[in-house]
Formats: sequence, C-alpha cells, structure tokens
Amino acid sequence: MKEHLVKLAKFLLLIIIVTSNLYSFALKDNSVETVAWNNGKTLLGFLEANTLPLKLYYELDDEAKKFASQIMEGATTYITKDSEGDIYQALIPINEELQIHISKNCAGAYILRIEPIKYKTEKKTVLIKLNSVFSKDIVDKTKNPPLAFKLQHLFKHDINFKHLKKGDKVGVIYIEKTRMNKRFGSQKILAAFIEHRGRRKYKFLYNERYYDQKAKVEREVSSFVRPCKFRRISSTFSKKRWHPILKRYRAHHGIDYANRTGTPIYATYSGKVTFVGQKGGYGKSFVIRHPNGYQSLYAHLHSYSKGMKRGKRVKRGQLIAKMGSTGLSTGPHLHFGIKYRGRWINPARKIVIVENSGAKLRKKILKNVRRYKPVLDKLK
Ligand SMILES: [Zn+2]
Repeated sequence: MKEHLVKLAKFLLLIIIVTSNLYSFALKDNSVETVAWNNGKTLLGFLEANTLPLKLYYELDDEAKKFASQIMEGATTYITKDSEGDIYQALIPINEELQIHISKNCAGAYILRIEPIKYKTEKKTVLIKLNSVFSKDIVDKTKNPPLAFKLQHLFKHDINFKHLKKGDKVGVIYIEKTRMNKRFGSQKILAAFIEHRGRRKYKFLYNERYYDQKAKVEREVSSFVRPCKFRRISSTFSKKRWHPILKRYRAHHGIDYANRTGTPIYATYSGKVTFVGQKGGYGKSFVIRHPNGYQSLYAHLHSYSKGMKRGKRVKRGQLIAKMGSTGLSTGPHLHFGIKYRGRWINPARKIVIVENSGAKLRKKILKNVRRYKPVLDKLK
C-alpha cells in the first residue's frame, strides 16, 4: 500500500513538473517555433544566425563546450520569440537526457544553462492487425515511425516482412517518451510478438537484450571473431571458380584469407572440435561443431595449437592453429568454410545462432516473460 502511495506521489510530481515546465514556456508567448537541428549546425552558428551574444558559447567551460558539440542531429529545437522577433527562450536537446536552455532574464541579458530534459514516459500496449504494408500499419496505429523501424530490426531474423499479409498481427509493449507533448528520443520495446499465419514469434527485453519466450538469445556469428588477420581475401565463396592447381572449374566452398605462414587462427565461435588432421586437398585441417547445426572448417594449416584434439571444447576467439599452405594450396592462406545442416554456406553471409542462456539468467528472463507474455496474449 505504502509503495503505491509513493509511486502515485512520484507520478503526480512528474506531472506537476512537466506541466509547469510547459506552462512557463507557453505563457510568455503562444507561438512556439519548432526547428529541426540540421546536420552540421553548431551552437555558435545558431547564436550567430539568431543574433544572440556569442559569449554564451565562448564563456562555457570545456565540458559544456563538449556537450554543445554533441547536439543530436534532427533534434527538435523549441524557440519562442518576443514581439520584436528576438529570441526569448530556446531549448536545444543535446541528447535524450540533457538540453541547452537559452533564456532572457528580467534584466534583458541572455543566459545559457545545460539542464536535464523534462520528459514524460508512458507505457503503451497495442495490437496491430496488419492490413497493407507492415511499417505503414504500425505508424497508422501508433503514430510512431521509429517504433516500426525498431520492430522490423528486432524481428529481422525471424520474419520475412515481405511475406506478412493481411490478418497477421503485431503486439507490442513499449515506453513512449514525450517532451512538450511531442514524441521524442528512442523507442524502448519491452516485449513484442509478430504473428504470421497463426504462428507467433516473441521477444522480451531483459538487461538491454532480447530473448524469446524460452529465454533463448540470438547471436550473429558474423559479428564475432574473424578467424584470422589477413592481407587480402584471395578467393571468395562461389559455386564455380577456376582452380589454379587442378586447372578446372570447381566450386569454392569458403573464403580464402591470405597472410604469412604462422598467422594465428582463432575459433570463430564456441563449440566442440570434431576433426583435427589431414583432409585430402585441404591439407592439415580443423573442424569445430557449433550449436544449431553449424560447423566451421579451417584448412591448409601449418600446425595446430597445443592440446587440440577431437572432443575438446573451444571458445569463440580461442587460438586453435597457425596458418600454412598444406594440401592443394598455392601459398599460405586459411581456407575458412561454414557448413549449415550438412551444406556449405557463404561465411560472409549473416549467420545467426540461437543460444540458451545460463541457468541463473534464464530464471530471471523467464520471470520477465511471465510478466509480459500474458499481457501480450490478452490483446484483442
Ligand atoms: Zn579455399
């Protein structure tokens, strides 16, 4: 009960702060101009263009000057002018938390302060029934274009957005920030689902990461460790390429990274070693099995790291071997291949591995899932 009262009191205080802020701003002049802070605009340029004293900038300390150089692009700046057309007040957001506040005091002198932005946050829960184009449907319902973009980004590995059709659904719980009654800042999605042909994919935010309803997390392998440093890529993945030694066309099921003999080679992702040894034209080779049906192959090696043998577990980024030119090879390079469910795929492709979370973390994530999933599932 007491907690509720504290919450309520905080909420009311917030409203008072926000409204008083708006009120004091609007009271002086009812024509508030909003201007987008364009690319390349500087605080000094702004002062100059509005015939404001340049010392407002020059008298700032180093830290404040640094803030002034970080004003976010496209940010909405609020300006009020007096009857003579002089700026009375200006609010320029630096980031989502701080703003520059320029105002005229009663003596007619301008002052510049860097102060926290007062904004309102609201938790919103919506269900969107898709009708035409995904982003259009989201924006029509929420009036929030960044939310549509965020949703698309969040589900990019689960959903082919071109396949979504009328009757599919989107449910989302998000925090909307408003400043001066206008949406601002980034969009925080707490939980969401997209339903396609009656099948739902869920995402739940926990500690700045998104998990599915089973607390599994997606990781992009391509954003992880490249297997080695290289001077050049001597051959890319292709189904057909001229083989300089065999002198015939042959598929190239990997990427060749050329560098000097002895260049360290790292496991691109965690997994279990399934092969260490000679492998025909590949020469000395190394194979690691990863979760979700992926395998990585490292070929033409000079040597293996100590203790590397079949069955050993290796970590992403762990040193496993040295570059060489064994097998059918014209010079020192690493042939790096990735197999998915028995088929070679282009390692340059974006690869996503879905991972289980550790037991402790899993418990916390699932608690969060139990909090938001029923809310999403109840949406009509
Ligand atoms: Zn190769």
